[in-house]
Amino acid sequence: MACYRCNKVQTDPVKGKSPWARFVLKGEQVLLCPECQSADPGWMTVGDRCPFCDSPKLSMVMGSVVCRSCGRDFERTPSF
Ligand SMILES: [Zn+2]
Ligand SMILES: [Zn+2]
Repeated sequence: MACYRCNKVQTDPVKGKSPWARFVLKGEQVLLCPECQSADPGWMTVGDRCPFCDSPKLSMVMGSVVCRSCGRDFERTPSF
């Protein structure tokens, strides 16, 4: 996958956690590179949120959205 804003392809560090952000935007799993994260500090607010706990930490699993904070899953919201 590539950054959804600048299309740069993800490169994972050999060790440790990837600095790339992974979240759900309008029902699609997207990646955001570290450069775009620092260019737009409000990036975390544009993604979808969990309807149960309001967390932005969401992942797409088999077509539905899973919240990594409360562990619940729900249907992906249609994009407007
Ligand atoms: Zn980018
Ligand atoms: Zn949640």
